[in-house]
Amino acid sequence: MKAIVVDDSNVIRMVVRKFLLASGFATVLEGKNGRDALAQLEGGEVPQLAVLDWNMPVMDGAELLAALRATPALEGMAIVMLTTEADGIRAAALAGGATACLAKPFTAEKLSSELRRIGFALSSPATT
Ligand SMILES: [Mg+2]
Repeated sequence: MKAIVVDDSNVIRMVVRKFLLASGFATVLEGKNGRDALAQLEGGEVPQLAVLDWNMPVMDGAELLAALRATPALEGMAIVMLTTEADGIRAAALAGGATACLAKPFTAEKLSSELRRIGFALSSPATT
């Protein structure tokens, strides 16, 4: 499986990438904002999963979500939004085409159960 993690926080990208690699994803791309992510997604195999931060400079999660959902080639890609904002954002993200929404801070267990809920068969049990 292949994924992309998009967050302006180096730490969040590293933590999520490490978790996904340990959970059975063979390739995990990273983007530090929406524009960077779109460049990473040019050509190549389409990831099954994108984990997107909501608040990012240059091109934020809302704009990236809209761009991804407007790209027919990426139609089957699950999108998990990460946000620290209130519930209104969750509704907006889901309305914008996000598959799931996860509030920060989150544990590996929470991310794991959310990914399983949306249909990913992860290779290792969650650890907290
Ligand atoms: Mg951010």
